This record gives sequence, C-alpha cells and structure tokens, in this order.
Amino acid sequence: MALYHDRGVVLRTYKLGEADRIVVFLTRGHGKVRAVAKGVRKTKSRFGGRLEPTSHVDLLFYEGRGELDIVSQAESVDHFRPLRDDLDRLGRAISMLEVADQLALEREANVRLYEMLVGALRTLARQDAPMVVPGFFLKALALEGFRPQVESCVACDSEGPLVSWAVEEGGLRCTAHRQGPAVSPDAVVVLQDMLGGRLGTALNETRGPVVSEVDHLVVRALEHHLERRLRSVSALHRS
Ligand SMILES: [Zn+2]
Repeated sequence: MALYHDRGVVLRTYKLGEADRIVVFLTRGHGKVRAVAKGVRKTKSRFGGRLEPTSHVDLLFYEGRGELDIVSQAESVDHFRPLRDDLDRLGRAISMLEVADQLALEREANVRLYEMLVGALRTLARQDAPMVVPGFFLKALALEGFRPQVESCVACDSEGPLVSWAVEEGGLRCTAHRQGPAVSPDAVVVLQDMLGGRLGTALNETRGPVVSEVDHLVVRALEHHLERRLRSVSALHRS
C-alpha cells in the first residue's frame, strides 16, 4: 500500500465497529480526506487524544482501496487547548469546522481554505473575540466567489447610507432600495472593516449588540449560499 504525508485539521469523527473511528480531515495537500483510525477508542490508543475535532496534526496515511484511507501516524501540530477547555468557544470552533466540511471537496486541495481555517482556530484559541467566526464565514464566502457587496448599494451602487441586507443579491442596499432585514450603521462599519482588510480592527474593537447583529447577517448570507450550492449539486446529480 502506498504511503503519503500531509497536514490537516480534524473536522469530525464517527465510530466504526468496536474500537475504530472514521476521521474526516481537511488536509493541506489533498483536500478532504476520510480515513480509518484503528484502535483509537481504546484507552491505550497510540493516537492518544490527537484525533479530536479541531486537532491540527501531521499525518501519515496508507492509501486505501476505496474511499477510506488509513491513519498510520498522527503527531500534534497545535493542541488549541483553550478551545477544548471552553465549551462555548469549542461550539463556535465546531461551526467553522462544519462550514469547512461543506465547502471542501474530497481529494482536491484547497490550500486557501485550509490556511483560513487554521488561522481562525489559532486566533480563537488565543483570544475569545466574538468576530472570529463571522470573519471566517465572510472570508469563506469571498473564497467561493460570493463576497458580499458592503461598500455600496447592490441596486444602484450609491454609497448610502446603507440600511438593509439583501441576502439574495449578496449585499447592502440604500434607503431608496431598502429590502431585507434592517442593518444598523455600526454593523455596516464592521462589515466594511471585515471585508476591507481591517479584520484585526473588527476583532479587537467590536463589542455590544452589534456583535450578534453582524453574526446573524453573516450566517444568513452563508446559509443562503450553502443552500443554493446544495441545490445546484443535487440538480447536477439528477441530470
Ligand atoms: Zn440603492
């Protein structure tokens, strides 16, 4: 059997038989990889706790015959311990893993997505900033080619004031073309910071009610995109 090396983040795991687990990784060089980790559920497993969701690991795989490879070795790169020790932060980290899982393709490298995920996990482990997850979601949308338009109205291109979030059109709308949920001036600034290369400002300075407002707007845009993507994928399978 052929061996190959890669580095990856554990997206999720599920049980297989008595002692094994199937582990789904987002790897740097091979995109999404599903692999069996043998004996991982035994107390004396040679993998220890290194194959839990959010783990960032150096991996050696045996290439399987079907769609499952086999994990031969796993060495920790990052533990992200602050994420494991804080249920709230872990939940938010897992929401990023789920989105990465939906966007990544099997055995097709997406280095940018991998690096964005590792970067966001590192930031979230370092500081409990509420804008890390929406920032990751916005960047993931942009990577997919659906960067929301937040600098000017999606209907007339005027600079505003921008007052509503037109999810279907992927951006903000002005007073004259108001459509969709209302957006506060503070949220407009945060969205512009996050997409305008000032993510650090948004991470460090965003506090108060605007946090949940922006989170809500971004999740709505992402869900809209993922649903449309799912529909186009199932249409492809039907034809
Ligand atoms: Zn307009």
